[in-house]
Amino acid sequence: MALSGVEIFKLLPKTNCKKCGHPTCLAFAMKLAQRQATLDACPDVSDEAKRVLGEASAPPVRPITFGSGDKAVKMGEETVLFRHEKKFVNPCAFAVEVKDTLSESEITKKIEDVLASEIDRVGQKLRIDAIAITNASGDKGKFEAAAKLVSSKAPNTPVILSTTDTAAAEAAIKLFSGKRPILYGANSSNADAMANIAKTEKAILGVTAHGLEDLSNLTEKIKALGVEDMVIDAGSVKAKDILGNNTLIRRAATKKNFKPLGYPVINFVQRDDTLLELLVAGIAVTKYSSVIVLSSIEKWKNLVLFTLRQNIYTDPQVPMQVEQKIYNIGEPKPESPLMITTNFSLTYFIVSGEVENSKVPSRLAVMDCEGLSVLTAWAAGKFTATKIAQFITESGIEKDISHKELIIPGYVAILSGSIEDKLEGWKVTVGPREANGLPAFLKARAA
Ligand code: SF4
Repeated sequence: MALSGVEIFKLLPKTNCKKCGHPTCLAFAMKLAQRQATLDACPDVSDEAKRVLGEASAPPVRPITFGSGDKAVKMGEETVLFRHEKKFVNPCAFAVEVKDTLSESEITKKIEDVLASEIDRVGQKLRIDAIAITNASGDKGKFEAAAKLVSSKAPNTPVILSTTDTAAAEAAIKLFSGKRPILYGANSSNADAMANIAKTEKAILGVTAHGLEDLSNLTEKIKALGVEDMVIDAGSVKAKDILGNNTLIRRAATKKNFKPLGYPVINFVQRDDTLLELLVAGIAVTKYSSVIVLSSIEKWKNLVLFTLRQNIYTDPQVPMQVEQKIYNIGEPKPESPLMITTNFSLTYFIVSGEVENSKVPSRLAVMDCEGLSVLTAWAAGKFTATKIAQFITESGIEKDISHKELIIPGYVAILSGSIEDKLEGWKVTVGPREANGLPAFLKARAA
């Protein structure tokens, strides 16, 4: 169970030396209890206190790495129920199901779709993270053959092996030795044998049960058998069960530090209707799932899910921003255009993407406005004529260009006169309001 601030205080040196950045040991203890500080900030804490507090301060949802190498996925490590308390830590992974009843060419097509799923969105690489091979045939040979195909064509992609047949599990898992697969299908009937396989192969065990009570009993039993890394499934299939069970699991783990449910959650959301599947997957993304298994990965569906995941796992207290500087797009010459915008990541990536589309080499001055978009920054007094003039002057850009023309976003056309007043000798041109108008605007100027 989590320790209270006073219990933690009793284990601290009680010298109030302030080296941890807090005025007293009690203040530090309170921060530790709220998980707003970490024990290593106190250099004088005893080994015994470290042991006791280390156990108590371990993340309530166990951190686990799924897969290996560049495509490994970190799961768990979550500490809160709501994003406004602290950010969610490890984004959920998406997997697509590959049934072993499919033909070789159908399986190959799915693997290729996974490998081609990666997109770049606002500077982050997003992809379908894993392949879930399901023993739908009930045949050990077919399961092994499907696993062989996946391991040869996508050797670096994390894999979930889904079967309740221990012989099939044993045969297939050897193909992923050292690659930290998830072996999903441990239940009350096969727990001992599945735990043994997971232990031998150092795999993550996917544990499934009917309801939370059975699930927590099963994870305790499996832990006692020596398996530490598990992903859990309360048998949630309907959307309301995914929502309800996932919430109760996260609540039990983070609010009560209830260890038997302190594991990443896996949800299977496959539906015949792909739009419905998307909606159910969306619930799983927003409500605490760590691995979501889909039946299909159409590009439009991926885009929706990637965007949702990115939003949920962005720290709401820290605006996404890029570094203030003048970015070269293409290979600009001294006479190439110079534009200005703010450093909100989304603004930067959209504007720079559209400038790139124009194929007109340019310079983009990105001004630090604390991660706000153009209109918001202007309204907040952070994107003003004085500040723009100061930024352009201090950037030293004048020595790299042969003109003194600055293109500003159309939304702040109102600033053009006052910028010209403050930037002596400069001409201010008003660009399009929306970034998607930039290619036509730049091409027309270049013509
Ligand atoms: Fe107390 Fe340790 Fe902080 Fe010093 S550094 S005030 S001993 S908690």
